[in-house]
Amino acid sequence: MFTLHAVGKTFPDGLRALDAITAEIGAGEFVALLGPSGCGKSTLLRLLAGLERPSDGSISWESGRQPGPGDIGYVFQDATLLPWADAASNVFLPLRLRGVSRAEAAPRIATMLEQVGLADFAHTMPQALSGGMRMRVSIARALISDPLLLLMDEPFAALDEFTRHRLQEDLRGLWRRSGKTIVFVTHSIYEAAFLASRILVMSPRPGRIAADFSTPLPDGAARRGSPEYAALVADITETFRRVMPA
Ligand code: ADP
Ligand code: MG
Repeated sequence: MFTLHAVGKTFPDGLRALDAITAEIGAGEFVALLGPSGCGKSTLLRLLAGLERPSDGSISWESGRQPGPGDIGYVFQDATLLPWADAASNVFLPLRLRGVSRAEAAPRIATMLEQVGLADFAHTMPQALSGGMRMRVSIARALISDPLLLLMDEPFAALDEFTRHRLQEDLRGLWRRSGKTIVFVTHSIYEAAFLASRILVMSPRPGRIAADFSTPLPDGAARRGSPEYAALVADITETFRRVMPA
């Protein structure tokens, strides 16, 4: 879907955030960008979204152009819902901004809410939803315009572990069913190993790609307890031991 060619980013204050990032990401991959705080993960997502430009190197898109706002869904750690609008109206927002009528969007809103497990909460206000449910609304809102690429920046980091596991499982299912390309930022080795089909391990700043793991693990409930999962977690842990300063 896109290729990063020796991408680097230096901010105007001279801070070198990313260095020599080279990777080819195929359509339908679920890529985890895994690395310690400050290694440039969010910066890399912003480059992919076209919100920042690389200082050196380049990103080339298979489609031949930088995807527009409708082609990219973005999900942040904070669900950032409109507090005065119910779940359905929050999911509707990106379509509303593009001039689609509510009547026209209604079936799609219902489908998206159902896909994230909130079919019965269309008219519930954000403050009456749990943290996990608010994040589900945020994911439905990101998917409403059927983007080619879903960018997620530590979306589950603020959730309790039980809720996080459920959302991880549901996101895996959603990815399997939809075939979307996902780039998911996390600093959790366990989360990356559970979710992704591929893990790019990043070094501390300036962020470089320290390792590139494919994760052909068993799917479904067996995944988290499988020996392959444990071995992958151990391999990633060992990679970090090599690249982290003592
Ligand atoms: P991560 O998401 O991996 O925690 P970030 O991409 O947010 O890391 O940031 C990488 C580094 O770049 C950090 O040291 C951060 O302080 C710095 N940084 C991020 N954005 C800017 C900016 N606009 N100007 C200057 N420095 C920035
Ligand atoms: Mg970040």
